[in-house]
Amino acid sequence: MDLVCDRCGECCRRSTPALHQEDLALIGGDGGFDLVHLVTFRRGELVHDQIRGELVPLEQEVVKLRSLPGGWACMFLLEPESGEVTAGCARYQARPLECRLLLCKDPEPLAAAYDTGRITRHDIVGAEGPIAELIAAHEARCGYKDLAQWARRLHADATDTAAQEAILAAVRFDAGARSMLLERLPAMDDADKAAVAACCLGRPLTETIPAMFGLELRKSADGAIHLAARGVIHHPAARP
Ligand code: SF4
Repeated sequence: MDLVCDRCGECCRRSTPALHQEDLALIGGDGGFDLVHLVTFRRGELVHDQIRGELVPLEQEVVKLRSLPGGWACMFLLEPESGEVTAGCARYQARPLECRLLLCKDPEPLAAAYDTGRITRHDIVGAEGPIAELIAAHEARCGYKDLAQWARRLHADATDTAAQEAILAAVRFDAGARSMLLERLPAMDDADKAAVAACCLGRPLTETIPAMFGLELRKSADGAIHLAARGVIHHPAARP
């Protein structure tokens, strides 16, 4: 079998690599990955599994390279220029472990390493200190396991006010935690601040809840957030 990568770019368009202990040396320093290049997918969040080729809820959090806005393609993918057929990687010489192992014609090397030695947020921001405390509080108030149960109740009974209030309280806490974190960050543009928040606290609930749980979040003119059980439920634990 021909085991040479054709550099079609398809793997890098479908998903980004989760980072492993071997990748810690690539984070920080001159030319290394910065917090703005990373995103955390939290425990219970739906993510594309490279091996199974489907969306599955995470058993443990993972830190991945960020994708381009509005899709799953890696932010470092260099699409073929006009007239070219091969894609490139802006970080090819210092690409993460999964990128080095992934070959669509032979998935075995990646499958063997896929679930082992993955890093968490603590490997990046430390296990103690104000950011670690904020992460712990956020996880306790905005955990996806609890949110999936509340969403399931709401889909079973749209008038379940306890479920509504629990989800809205999590959404408010998530927004407050992000504001608190952003106040501590040095001067940088809003897009970079949002990216750092997505690394430290995961993607905002206003983004993930509608997509995973089939819940509609709407802000009224007075700033109040309204919730409705309306939409496709992709997360298995949220199905009634
Ligand atoms: S870092 Fe490079 S090789 Fe890895 S997914 Fe991104 S573009 Fe592809």
